[in-house]
Amino acid sequence: MEFRDLKKQYQMLKEEIDQAILDVVKDGNYILGTQVSQLEDELSEFSGSKHCVCCGNGTDALVLALMYWNIGPGDAVFVPDFTCFASVTCILTRGAEPVFVDIDLKTFNMDPNSLEEAVLNVTREGRIRPRVIMPVDLFGLPADYGRILEIARKYSLLVLEDAAQSFGASINGRNTCTFGDISTTSFFPSKPLGCYGDGGALFTGSREIADRLKSMRFLGRSVADQYDNINIGLNSRLDTLQAAILLKKLRAFKEYELDCVNRIAEYYSSLLKNVVSIPRIPEDFYSSWAQYTILLENEAQRDSLKDYLSTSGVPSAVYYPRPMHLQKACEGLATPLVSLANSVHASKCALSLPMHPYLTDEEVEMITTTIIEHIG
Ligand SMILES: *Cc1c(COP(=O)(O)O)cnc(C)c1O
Repeated sequence: MEFRDLKKQYQMLKEEIDQAILDVVKDGNYILGTQVSQLEDELSEFSGSKHCVCCGNGTDALVLALMYWNIGPGDAVFVPDFTCFASVTCILTRGAEPVFVDIDLKTFNMDPNSLEEAVLNVTREGRIRPRVIMPVDLFGLPADYGRILEIARKYSLLVLEDAAQSFGASINGRNTCTFGDISTTSFFPSKPLGCYGDGGALFTGSREIADRLKSMRFLGRSVADQYDNINIGLNSRLDTLQAAILLKKLRAFKEYELDCVNRIAEYYSSLLKNVVSIPRIPEDFYSSWAQYTILLENEAQRDSLKDYLSTSGVPSAVYYPRPMHLQKACEGLATPLVSLANSVHASKCALSLPMHPYLTDEEVEMITTTIIEHIG
């Protein structure tokens, strides 16, 4: 059994993906070929965001957004304490300060109350300037944008939506990648929509922002004259090969993969709801299930279940074993301004189970039976 079976998906789409790869190889247009702009059009149509700009990976996408706003030393970026380190390193790269916000244990996402408390504390201290809120749609579930956007308006803050794990998810029919002033996603192979290497994208409703980002991902050069550099940028382009693969995978993603992971999550939950704390999806929210993550009672129970599953041939993963404020790279930062107790709790008690569109009912039954055997 695989934690996320990428090979099974390839087997399903093999013929068309092989052809798409061959076409690129023969065509010779390896960087930013026509497949990249076609993909950008299809991604913006699917998400409902006006503009999409593909780039080298999800971390660069976040860096590009912060560069666009000129976020740097003296600026505070509010980010959940329980996330992938990519959400934090992009802030540190800019010389800005991450301000860690606690999560809601029901959703694993940024807790709006903790966010507002952090904004008020930073303002009161007066040492750094609140600039950006970076909500992360963890494990595929959109953050609480209703409340977060309200807080952003109230304190005049920008919103950078980190939708690396939530492409395809929505709230009340409105898709992720449309909630931020700029939103980003990742096509790392294990994300809901993954390619066969690194890839990422930025989304925005503003043509002006999109045009500048297109320049910034390519060394800051001018569209009209490639030797006229008008912005400071990165070398962060999406390979034509990855775009060609993503165009094929996007179709499967839309047609059935999203439905499959939602059906599998429901089946997991129906079998586990009386056994462990299952992931809860608020009303009107739709997840793209980057992970199916349960919460155990304590660290010892989580670790012993993980070992037991492993002995029984079931892979599982701990996302994430260490909160952001306890990372070595964050040692020099000021002490957190709000309680991060839920984040610490989740790092000790969360366990992610196998999840991908090709998981069978029998596999889900085998996994849940093994969990019930161990926990009773
Ligand atoms: C994966 C991930 C990223 C970074 O994406 P890459 O393409 O790997 O650079 C950023 N944020 C979150 C929450 C992620 O899970």
